[in-house]
Amino acid sequence: MANRRGIPIILSSPSGAGKSTLSKLLMKWDPSISFSVSATTRAPRAGEEDGREYYFRTRAEFESMVAGGEMLEHAEVFGNLYGSPLEPVEAALSAGRDVIFDIDWQGGQQIRGSALAKDIVSIFILPPSITELENRLRTRGQDSDEVIADRMTKSRDEISHWAEYDYCIVNHEISDSEEKLKAILTAERLRRSRQAGLVDIVRELNVQFGLRG
Ligand code: 5GP
Repeated sequence: MANRRGIPIILSSPSGAGKSTLSKLLMKWDPSISFSVSATTRAPRAGEEDGREYYFRTRAEFESMVAGGEMLEHAEVFGNLYGSPLEPVEAALSAGRDVIFDIDWQGGQQIRGSALAKDIVSIFILPPSITELENRLRTRGQDSDEVIADRMTKSRDEISHWAEYDYCIVNHEISDSEEKLKAILTAERLRRSRQAGLVDIVRELNVQFGLRG
């Protein structure tokens, strides 16, 4: 039985703002952190593996997962369905592992309205400029011009939800943003309400006071 429940960490940003790089860095810093692998109906990109970046599913398979109540949240993004399977998330959180969700604002809103609401920490990553955002999408080299144009349109919509998040990081420089992300998680883990062992520690301190007479 874990000492505390894990923290659901919601990370949102427009595509290309550095969210996946930052989540990888956070998991490298603390390998006990889990990543919520989403299901999606979009086609895999070069180098992506089923079960690692995403569970790649047909629309029919995805819809049957939703109908079966298997999704914590789901949304349509760029014409494809994306969703977070509930069962692995619940298993990780009850084992005391913090879980990163790399999801859009629609997923963030749904999780804020779910049973996990009281535990979540939500972080929005902003790009330093729109030119920089577009450059990052282009140098990533994973998408066609048309897909990049669609993503830029969606970025405006995504950014309009920044104020729904607990924290915002403007990603000027990745190592600086990484430090900020670690600082957020460190502080959140230190919240009194999350430190289940404190009562015993204080009880023991009081016993020691008593022994001193
Ligand atoms: P991509 O296709 O670039 O991997 O992801 C496109 C967008 O979908 C990103 O903003 C990503 O955060 C979001 N996304 C990925 N998985 C999920 C999910 O399970 N739920 C929701 N709501 N959004 C997701």
